[in-house]
Amino acid sequence: MRIVASTLIQRGLTALLDRVLPDLPEAMAGRVRFEQVQSILRMTPVMMGANIVIALLVGLAGLNSPHTVALTIWAALVVSYGLLGLRGWVAAQRRKSGKSTVSARGVRRMTWQAGLLGVLWGALPILTMPKAQGFAGAMPMLVASVIAGMIGCGGFAMLTLPAAAIAYSTPMVLGSLYVLATSNDPILYALGGLLIFCHMVVSVSCLSHAKIFADRLVAAEELEKQKQVVSLLLSDFEEGASDWLWEVDAAGRMTYVSDRMAAAAGADKEALIGRPMSDLCGAAEAPAGPVAALSALFAEQRAFRDVVVSIGVGETVHCQETHWWSLSAKPVHDLDGDFIGFRGVGADITQAREDQARISRLAHYDVLTQLPNRLSFLQALGKAWTEHGRPKSHSGTGAGCAVLCLDLDHFKGVNDSLGHPIGDDLLIQASARLRDCVAEHMGHGGFVARLGGDEFAVVIAPSPGHEALGALAQAIVAALSRPYDVRGHNVLIGASIGIAVAPMDADDPDGLLKHADLALYRAKGDGRGAYRFFETAMDVWAQERRELELDLRDALAKAELKLFFQPLIGAHENETTGFEALLRWQHPRRGLVPPSDFIECAEQWGLIGAIGEWVLYEACRTAATWPSHLTVAVNLSPNQFASGELVAQVKAALNASGLAPERLELEITEGLLLHDSVKTLEQLAALKALGVKIAMDDFGTGYSSLAYLWRFPFDKIKIDRSFVAEMQDNSAIADILRTIALLGQTLNLEVTAEGVETAAQARLLADMRCDTFQGFLYGRPMPVGDIPSFLVSNLARRMRRGVEDDGAEEAVGY
Ligand code: C2E
Ligand code: CA
Ligand code: CA
Repeated sequence: MRIVASTLIQRGLTALLDRVLPDLPEAMAGRVRFEQVQSILRMTPVMMGANIVIALLVGLAGLNSPHTVALTIWAALVVSYGLLGLRGWVAAQRRKSGKSTVSARGVRRMTWQAGLLGVLWGALPILTMPKAQGFAGAMPMLVASVIAGMIGCGGFAMLTLPAAAIAYSTPMVLGSLYVLATSNDPILYALGGLLIFCHMVVSVSCLSHAKIFADRLVAAEELEKQKQVVSLLLSDFEEGASDWLWEVDAAGRMTYVSDRMAAAAGADKEALIGRPMSDLCGAAEAPAGPVAALSALFAEQRAFRDVVVSIGVGETVHCQETHWWSLSAKPVHDLDGDFIGFRGVGADITQAREDQARISRLAHYDVLTQLPNRLSFLQALGKAWTEHGRPKSHSGTGAGCAVLCLDLDHFKGVNDSLGHPIGDDLLIQASARLRDCVAEHMGHGGFVARLGGDEFAVVIAPSPGHEALGALAQAIVAALSRPYDVRGHNVLIGASIGIAVAPMDADDPDGLLKHADLALYRAKGDGRGAYRFFETAMDVWAQERRELELDLRDALAKAELKLFFQPLIGAHENETTGFEALLRWQHPRRGLVPPSDFIECAEQWGLIGAIGEWVLYEACRTAATWPSHLTVAVNLSPNQFASGELVAQVKAALNASGLAPERLELEITEGLLLHDSVKTLEQLAALKALGVKIAMDDFGTGYSSLAYLWRFPFDKIKIDRSFVAEMQDNSAIADILRTIALLGQTLNLEVTAEGVETAAQARLLADMRCDTFQGFLYGRPMPVGDIPSFLVSNLARRMRRGVEDDGAEEAVGY
């Protein structure tokens, strides 16, 4: 029977506990039980004290009653219980283990103890039950009050542990009910009903309170756990990520600064707290810049993302370094919904921004010259076109804009002969001159770009008019044509410029650029170092040039190239000393094309190497069939030296033809020596070592022909025909020619005068001691088939003259 009862009670208690602690994991349930037990333990001294005192009082009150013995025993039991309880409490205080959980068994034990106390008190009404019918005297009153008080106080003290509270109060209620039920008094029955009702109220309150207590505890525990997780995540974030956390109050003053943020701001964390965050923004920024943006953002009280602000990092304003931060934040509100500041993350993106700027710079600027590149140029052109290029009716200003296309003359020669590092340095210097010159003439109205290689372009917007553009072009040509000192080399190049002006020269920016390019092409075709404005006719001309290029590529293969030969005549005996090979192009449609119309194109289009090689073979092959004292002169382009194959080609041509090397003369111009390349001089020396003669052609037209005479042991100089043409009208030129001839004699060089057209010129030049003549007076360039008859007729002429001079018999040669 006892076992059944105890099992029932146990089950009941477990059910009660389950109601209070539903589905909690054991660890959490243990925590809750611990708090429940703790709250009871806190009350233990008071409760035990009260038990002892009240039991003693009741014992005393019952001394003269019929229940003295029973009451004394009862009081002794309660006092003992109380004392044991106190002792247990003291022991529990002493052995505080730091453990913060209590097992279900611990709670059961406490419930049993409470139940035992309840039984002791429940026995009181039964022990003091009146022997006779009806209640009389003060005792029942005392007992009723004490029991009511004990139920109330006990239930209150054990509020958190309903099982204990119920186990404690139920025996008291049962004891009292037993007494009331046996009283046979209807009023007392009613009192019994009231007691049951009160007990139920106490029990239910206990249960509900305990539930709230447990729920709160669970919630607090959860909150704590969440807090730990969040702070773990945050510290992880702050340690690991490059971003940091920050917080400001409603006035924008920093209230939380993470270590990383303080480090990024280059300031102490403590010094930052309380300062307005906008104080950090770079002092260098304009008021309308990020500073204002940050204050405005704060003022808006709305969330923002990835806002970039500039930050002045450093102790003082003067030695501050500008950094860039990216900030994101959300507004924070208090419980009343009032705005109390911002909380967010930040990151220093200075490096990323710099990288981006570098990439963007690479995309828009030429690495070598630091000038804007083609992409930037096209953008600038597009902008100039929209703002100024379109006619006024199309929303433009109507002022117009201009494009100058610019190309360095002879740059390729420098690059090929002196090497790319020198070529690069030259480009850098030329770019600087171009930029300075445009800035000087146009201020901010000019945009200079390098399009690639030695091509440059300038956008001028608004256009200052034809005259000013012409003046600018002239100034650019002059600036770029001044000698350059590149790593100790004295280098001369020039520039050609083509200009197109919007809106009259084109319908769109592309067309404008194309037409400026055409004008440049034309400027180069007209002789370098010039500028040309675009003209509609140039389109036709360009078309022709294009066709010419295509035809010239086939000319060699189609055997359309021919050599003509112009005689060289001895100044005194008028004998034929040799011929100069001059190239002609027998074009099926154009007829005989002179070299001036295609040699330069051949050089530009990279065809001169193959053509020059063919000329060498053909000239040697032809000369080998001539009488053995006749020489042949071949013109060489600087580009032929650049290839590095020239010496081998000459050797091969001599070998193939069997021509004696001393019968071959190679004519070079000053342009070749301009760049003073070791490579060129080495090749010249190698050629000379073969026994070939080297002549300086067009002597006097360059800047420093004389200087070059000392640099290389030429065999011959050929005075340019422009001197010959002018010498009769200009005594200074005649003096120069005399000096040159004298110089030739001193240096032991043969001196040839080119372009001799009149007998008077021939007489003068002969007096000046020129050695040979070349010119229409003696013979025009002729096809190879005409040479025998020329030789014969020249011999005949000489003989006639010889008869007149009484010296015909002695005349030798042709
Ligand atoms: P250059 O070497 O100065 O050749 C002499 C040029 O003067 C030739 O013109 C010739 O016809 C012209 N000429 C000769 N005597 C007179 C004269 O009395 N009066 C006038 N007004 N002109 C005269 P051409 O044949 O048109 O050659 C022009 C230039 O083309 C040559 O000038 C030479 O620099 C170049 N050239 C010709 N053939 C070749 C070649 O095979 N290779 C290379 N690289 N250049 C060549
Ligand atoms: Ca020549
Ligand atoms: Ca010449």
